[in-house]
Amino acid sequence: MLVVMRHGATDAEVQRVVDTIEELGYEARPMPGRQRTAVGLVGNDGRVDASRLAALAGVKEIIHVTQPYKQVSREWKKESTVVQLPGGLRIGGTDVVVIAGPCSVESEEQILAAACAVRESGASLLRGGAFKPRTSPYSFQGLGEEGLKLLAKAREETGLLVVTEAMDPESVDLVAHYADIIQIGARNMQNFSLLKRAGRTGKPVLLKRGIAATITELLLSAEYLLAEGNQDVILCERGIRGFDNATRNVLDVSAIPVVHGLSHLPIIADPSHGTGLRDKVIPMARAAVAAGADGVMVEVHPRPDRALSDGAQSLYPEQFAELMGEIRVITEAIGRSVAEPLPAVSA
Ligand code: PEP
Ligand code: MN
Repeated sequence: MLVVMRHGATDAEVQRVVDTIEELGYEARPMPGRQRTAVGLVGNDGRVDASRLAALAGVKEIIHVTQPYKQVSREWKKESTVVQLPGGLRIGGTDVVVIAGPCSVESEEQILAAACAVRESGASLLRGGAFKPRTSPYSFQGLGEEGLKLLAKAREETGLLVVTEAMDPESVDLVAHYADIIQIGARNMQNFSLLKRAGRTGKPVLLKRGIAATITELLLSAEYLLAEGNQDVILCERGIRGFDNATRNVLDVSAIPVVHGLSHLPIIADPSHGTGLRDKVIPMARAAVAAGADGVMVEVHPRPDRALSDGAQSLYPEQFAELMGEIRVITEAIGRSVAEPLPAVSA
């Protein structure tokens, strides 16, 4: 439930609404807006006496959020969320961000080469898993903390911000210590204890859609993060499982405008896991940007033939450079632009 205040409502009137919500036994979330302030009521179990709130001074109207997810919905917040990252980089505004890098951090040489190459072409964030969710327990599982340290080194040398995955509640704080954005992978989209922990770190979270998750389920998982007080959530369409094995997954491009309609959160696309095939990544990245994605995340490896994971879907650095050029043309055609990378810390 949302209590919308009149334009010009005083601080004391807003405070009275907050106090009343708390007296009723719920949590109040004041949300100052450009036009007017609203106060969200969190934890609504359907028994709230709205008339008590409606009668308070300064209250314009009460909005009942009809979706099962509340704080994530556009009913709750009309303006699109712009996630602010260190150095002034933003996700969800007019700029489209490009996140690129290998599937996994494999060695210092590999991650630095990947970082330099994608930075050179204009990516602003570096991806790379230090903790890898692999389908087989015998596949490369990642370098762990050593990988996180290498990502931090790559950030220092290139200025690229770092996106990396946390796989379990126990390692969230460790990942948060090194990462600028904590990734929650497709397989963990409904790992609710992980979501709760990630929601409390104070770091932005990139939440990937599960392989068999509906859009409602994705948004409900995001609600877990917001319910913990973390508003800095970026959603990611990374393909869902279809019946056709011509591609690894089916990249649901339509999820991008659908999510934009239902939620104020930014959404990016991952055409690498979405297709699983190097030569299909570029057209689907173009499609995602054209469909309004707030960013794309693509796997790029300096030597895809030697990659320890997902080599078949990793772009060669030259292909990535070409894709960046195309993304620039598409963003311009739709009134957006590509986010510029930050300068290197050590520069
Ligand atoms: C990844 O981004 O490295 C990854 C494992 O992706 P997903 O969770 O989408 O499979
Ligand atoms: Mn991968």
